[in-house]
Amino acid sequence: MVHTNSRGYTMKGLSTLLLLLIAPLSADALEVFACEPEWGALVKELAGENANITVATTAFQDPHRLQARPSLIAATRRADLLICTGADLEIGWLPLLLRRAGNPDIQPGRPGHFMAADYVRKLEIPALIDRSQGDIHPQGNPHIHLNANNISRIADKLAERLGVLDPANSSDYSRRLREFQSRWETATTGWEQRGESLQGLRLVSHHRGFSYLADWLDLDIVATLEPKPGVPPSAAHLARLLEALSPNPPAAVVRTPYANERPSLWLTERLDVRALRLPYTVNETDGPADLFALFDMTLAALEEVNNERL
Ligand SMILES: [Zn+2]
Repeated sequence: MVHTNSRGYTMKGLSTLLLLLIAPLSADALEVFACEPEWGALVKELAGENANITVATTAFQDPHRLQARPSLIAATRRADLLICTGADLEIGWLPLLLRRAGNPDIQPGRPGHFMAADYVRKLEIPALIDRSQGDIHPQGNPHIHLNANNISRIADKLAERLGVLDPANSSDYSRRLREFQSRWETATTGWEQRGESLQGLRLVSHHRGFSYLADWLDLDIVATLEPKPGVPPSAAHLARLLEALSPNPPAAVVRTPYANERPSLWLTERLDVRALRLPYTVNETDGPADLFALFDMTLAALEEVNNERL
């Protein structure tokens, strides 16, 4: 049915015209503050033009460690939605940022405060929390996004939350969610099929940044360069790893773009295996531009290492 008003414009035509006028300005768009690029990318998938997104970190910044600089405080001050990983990933900077922002809408417990890790099963929850030993994963491993099934679960919750914060567009968020989930499910099936050839692939990881990827695809992370999460690799620890791994070296030593490359290079030169920088997250400047590309590129990099080994 087409509604026509007294001036003879069809309502559909008029609303399309209004949308065209409004969209480029995004005056009514939700202001979203994403702590990490993967969540900025997910908001973009589910909100499109309905959100203006500020992302606090890049693929080259350790999300555990960040300065609460003035531009970030300004962005949190105007945010309608804060989306972060949680599980203490941002414990070193986010509480300070939230205090300085003084924005009641995004404080813990409010609809504008969304922690992705609340909606997935955490790995590596320590039996005994001992911060004095420098472990920066006291709530379990917070690097949850490299299991495609976690992204799907979080997408459901995020679309629901966007609808709560912006009820006028809730049907749009539902539609975008359905479209995203349909594409994501097809892609996930493909990644899991490709992953079958990678089962049992032995890797060493600098930080425990790839545990969810390994858990999902049944990769075998046999050691980490950091003796504990967040504790830099010492010469003694690396020497012990070299000795322990020499009889049966891993296929590669993997790291994030933000990790110091030197410990990886030291060990891989001596073991004669690949040092592999995986994309880790979305990176529009020189890496995967969206979440689909992130998983595609990660799988491709692991397949290359696996093929060299065979
Ligand atoms: Zn970590």
